[in-house]
Amino acid sequence: MAKLNIAEKRLPQDGRIEVKLGTQNVDVRVSTLPTTFGERVVMRLLNKSEEALNLREVGLPPDGLELLNHLAQLPNGIILVTGPTGSGKTTTLYSVLAAINKPDINIITIEDPVEYQLKGISQIQVNPKIDLTFARGLRAIVRQDPDVILIGEIRDQETATIAVQSALTGHLVFSTLHTNDSASAITRLVDIGVEPFLISSSVVAVIAQRLVRVLCDHCKEAYTPGVILEGIGITRDQLENHTIYQAKGCEKCFHTGYRGRVGIFEIMHLNEDLKSLILKTYDATQIKQAALQRHMKTLRQSGIEKVLAGTTTIEEVLRVTQQ
Ligand SMILES: [Zn+2]
Repeated sequence: MAKLNIAEKRLPQDGRIEVKLGTQNVDVRVSTLPTTFGERVVMRLLNKSEEALNLREVGLPPDGLELLNHLAQLPNGIILVTGPTGSGKTTTLYSVLAAINKPDINIITIEDPVEYQLKGISQIQVNPKIDLTFARGLRAIVRQDPDVILIGEIRDQETATIAVQSALTGHLVFSTLHTNDSASAITRLVDIGVEPFLISSSVVAVIAQRLVRVLCDHCKEAYTPGVILEGIGITRDQLENHTIYQAKGCEKCFHTGYRGRVGIFEIMHLNEDLKSLILKTYDATQIKQAALQRHMKTLRQSGIEKVLAGTTTIEEVLRVTQQ
C-alpha cells in the first residue's frame, strides 16, 4: 500500500499511503528500518484536511499568536521554526501560510516531502535523483519573484545563502532548522557559513517548538504535586491559584490519559538589541540570556503555562523540554 519494494528487506525504505477516513483525508507516512531480527516500521499520521491547519489551534499563547500574525505580514525577512522531527514545525508553518494565503499573494514552497497540499500555493517536491535540490529549486523560485517562500529545511550553506539573499531582496521566507532552542538557530546558521551581519539583517524571528500531549478531559485528575515545584518554575502562589492535573486513563482515551497534542513555543523576536548582539557574538547562551532579559519565554515556561491551564501534565513538559 505504501508502494515500498516488498522484496527489499535489507534497506531502509520510505513510503506513503493515502486513506480516506469518513470525510478526512489522512496520509500515512511509512518508514521501515532493517534490524537484526527483521524490519521495524513506524507509521506517522497526517491529517490533510485544511481545517487541521488553523493557526489559532496550534497552541500559541495570545501574545505569540499576535506576534506571529504581525510577522507573517512583513514584506521581507526570515522566520525560522526549530525543533526535532515530529515537533510540529511543519504544521505551524503551513498554518501560517494558510492564514496569509490570498489570491493576490504569490506563495511558493520547496519541500521534502510535500506534506500537505494547500490550495492556491505552488509547492515543489525536492528530488535529489534528478538533482532538484533545495538550493537549485530555490534559485528557480527566486526568479519567479514570489512574495512568500517556504523552504522545507535549511541544511547547507547554499540553501542558507539563497534564503538570506531572498529575504534581503524583498521576500518573506519561512524555513525550519534542527536545533534545540531558538538561540541555537543563530549559531547553526553561522556554523553552516552565513555571515553574522547577514543573519542580523535578515532573520526577524526564531520559534522553537515541541509538542506535548493534551490531558483527556473525561478522566484528568486534580492533584497536589508532592515534589518541590520551584525547580521547574512553578511558584507557591501559582500553585495556590491553579489546579494541576495528572493523567489517569479511561475508555475515551484508550487508557492513556491523553487525547491529542498541542504545541509549546519559545519565540525569539530579533529586535534591534538582539540584532546588534549577533554582530558581536553568536554564542547561543549569550543570545538566549539577552532574549530572556527581553521577556522571551522558554519552552519550559511555555509548557508550565499549559500545566497551570490544565491542558497538560508536568511530566509531559519535563519530557519534551530541558533547562
Ligand atoms: Zn480519558
